[in-house]
Amino acid sequence: YDIVITGGGMVGSAMAASLGHSKLFEEKRILLLESGPKVLLDKTPDKYSSQVCSLSGATKDLLNSFCAWDKILRLQPVKHMRIWDSCSDVGITFNHKPDSGEYLAHVAENNLIVSAIVNRLLETKVEIRYKAKVKSYILNGGDDPKIVLDDGDVLKAKLLIGADGVNSLLRKSCNISTVAWPYQQTAVVSVVHIFEVLNNNTAWQRFLPTGPIALLPLSNQFSCLIWTTTPSEAKRLLSIGAEDFVSEVNTAYLCEKDSNEFTARLTSCVKQFLSTTGLGQCSVKQLPPKVVGVDEGSRKSFPLTLCHSNYYVKNKIALIGDAAHRVHPLSGQGVNLGFGDVISLAKVLEEAVLRGEELGNIRTLARYETDRQRSVLPMMATIDFLNRFYSNDLSPLVLMRSLGCQVADAVPFIK
Ligand SMILES: Cc1cc2nc3c(=O)[nH]c(=O)nc-3n(C[C@H](O)[C@H](O)[C@H](O)COP(=O)(O)OP(=O)(O)OC[C@H]3O[C@@H](n4cnc5c(N)ncnc54)[C@H](O)[C@@H]3O)c2cc1C
Repeated sequence: YDIVITGGGMVGSAMAASLGHSKLFEEKRILLLESGPKVLLDKTPDKYSSQVCSLSGATKDLLNSFCAWDKILRLQPVKHMRIWDSCSDVGITFNHKPDSGEYLAHVAENNLIVSAIVNRLLETKVEIRYKAKVKSYILNGGDDPKIVLDDGDVLKAKLLIGADGVNSLLRKSCNISTVAWPYQQTAVVSVVHIFEVLNNNTAWQRFLPTGPIALLPLSNQFSCLIWTTTPSEAKRLLSIGAEDFVSEVNTAYLCEKDSNEFTARLTSCVKQFLSTTGLGQCSVKQLPPKVVGVDEGSRKSFPLTLCHSNYYVKNKIALIGDAAHRVHPLSGQGVNLGFGDVISLAKVLEEAVLRGEELGNIRTLARYETDRQRSVLPMMATIDFLNRFYSNDLSPLVLMRSLGCQVADAVPFIK
């Protein structure tokens, strides 16, 4: 093969579809390998999945470039975002610009995103093998990489792209080291029924000392809960009954037990100062819709880690998506960064074809690595900083973040 992509999740499938729809790759033999079954849905499932992603405008553009966006069977626009602190009640609100026709994000279920991409991928010449698990790789410096499958088949690729997730076998086989640490936090996700609102298009996130709790809109009756907490608390939240779970979710959104009185008094003075001097207006405090039920079977948990691969490329090899970088879900950026890799690598490979360069040439691939590390590293550092800054109730930090957030909320330029 000219190109083999291992891992047909959201990112690997998008990589295959992007190359498959490019005229410059029409004559190339491309193969996608995925250990799981094919995900292709012909009608919208009745039930919502609790594994969802908020998708950015850049991701929408990528999926539109091969007409997959309109194939996503269910999407909910996010028009407003409210983020606030349980220790001080200071928050920040983002609103979309109604005239621009753009939203802050769209929320979609992971399986529906994969299905939409696969729908468009099947219209290309890209070969796909499902239930094809890579057992090992034979990597010998300058030779083309060999891929050994579980069924004994051995394949050869001029360029091997690893989109095989955070525990990437390809990354490990290349001996690429990582900077990684567990967060000692676990995300509990579930589909929750909300007290029906007219337009459920606000994403809510409250920072608790144990981690953020977020509600992403799915429809006017349903939202997806992503509650980051300690591993032991997550275990407990998975084991309690539905009624208790619902009551704990509402309490986590409303309770004032973490409130820091000194910060509350000071931020109230700052609020008054900002509005009387005309420097800025803080947004009005709003509360999320009441959660009234939980979809049984939708409660799941995911341990959270940070993982950054020190190299994204080697000779004839490139890593994309979670195989290259895994971030905390608090900012909803993980898969958007992965789709950013797809845009960048596809562009670099197209340029290589036009220049007559070898696809797997390390100098070609290094252009992709440089481009992506410039975007990914600052984003990872910011997300990690925000998580540390907010996941505690130390008074000086509560004060600093509350004042910073208040000024950012009130002054449009900073916001
Ligand atoms: C709770 C939570 C909430 C999140 N929310 C958001 C959000 O709002 N927005 C956002 O952008 N991101 C979010 N993310 C992150 C996002 O889910 C991930 O970044 C994304 O799933 C990574 O996609 P991927 O295709 O790179 O990897 P994966 O989804 O892990 O896919 C890897 C694929 O490779 C296959 N594979 C692995 N090994 C082999 C092998 N040996 N042979 C063949 N196939 C193999 C697997 O079967 C799998 O299909 C969230 C994550 C979590 C945990």
